[in-house]
Amino acid sequence: MRCWFVFVAVFFAPACIAGAVYEVQATIETAPVPHSGDRADDAKVWVHPTEPVLSVVIGSDKDDDEGGLIVYDLEGRQLQFVGGGKMNNIDVRYNVLLGAEEIDVVGAGNRTDNTIAVFRIDRQSRTLTDVTARKIAVNIEEAYGFCFYQNRRSGKLYAFVNDKNGEVEQWELFDDGTGRLDGRAVRRFDVGSQTEGMVADDEYGWLYVGEEDVAIWRYGAEPDDPTDKASRYRVDTTGSGGHIVADVEGMTIYYASDGRGYVIASSQGEDHSGHSLANTFAVYERGGNNAFVASFRIISNDALGIDGVSNTDGIGVTSAPLGPAFPYGVFVAQDGSP
Ligand code: CA
Ligand code: CA
Ligand code: CA
Ligand code: CA
Ligand code: CA
Repeated sequence: MRCWFVFVAVFFAPACIAGAVYEVQATIETAPVPHSGDRADDAKVWVHPTEPVLSVVIGSDKDDDEGGLIVYDLEGRQLQFVGGGKMNNIDVRYNVLLGAEEIDVVGAGNRTDNTIAVFRIDRQSRTLTDVTARKIAVNIEEAYGFCFYQNRRSGKLYAFVNDKNGEVEQWELFDDGTGRLDGRAVRRFDVGSQTEGMVADDEYGWLYVGEEDVAIWRYGAEPDDPTDKASRYRVDTTGSGGHIVADVEGMTIYYASDGRGYVIASSQGEDHSGHSLANTFAVYERGGNNAFVASFRIISNDALGIDGVSNTDGIGVTSAPLGPAFPYGVFVAQDGSP
């Protein structure tokens, strides 16, 4: 078994038919990630500040011994591989104040040493370099799920990690005084059963957590927000009336203006492979009560020789125009089998 990432141009259907599962095609498939087996996990887009076509997709390779992060250009060519361990979920943020400058970062949960890994994304060379002051070891059992949250007013950067017991830990990341990132744990709470996919909405101040067999939950993303189960909001359920089938996996946000846009979740269906919602992606409104919009799946693109997406896991998206191939942004997904 090998794993890939595929890129799909974002477009908008004129009207959504309730209950329909839309079919889209990828236009780019990367080479398989460096290690064979179930190794690719998550991918996120980094948008270049001045030359959109120079944006990159960063993916993870969760090999036990030699895993790391892979940087791809928008044609799916590998630009860099950085080792460091079994990197699982990843996330990207921009304009993080470090020393005297604002930098862009990609972070990951490193399952090899159970740490928060953070790399600077160099805007010229488009390569990654470790920017942590030390090994930022987390207190939960395994740094499995991971995402960033950046408070839009204070600029404070946080990382969330979670484990297979459903424990979530929030870390504040800060300049250690020498221009490197250090962290302190600021909150911990229990979601219930196994968690992984997470994404934070920096504008609304919300954290979405996928409880793989059960639901997508929404919590406040600030360290002093309530964590009791009565205070959280259930966005969707794997049970009756829901639009996802276990496992719930990766999540990502398509930002549009004025608080609009979409939260997208990967409905892997690993436990229910024949289910009509297995290997689909569920789309919800960003605002209000996260109304369900539609689902889609990525089918094969025979003209380009790109197979459909199965064993769907981590996903990423951007609404930034990235040139003629991706005028409304790009959606990236892991593909786990040929
Ligand atoms: Ca995963
Ligand atoms: Ca799974
Ligand atoms: Ca999982
Ligand atoms: Ca496939
Ligand atoms: Ca493939």
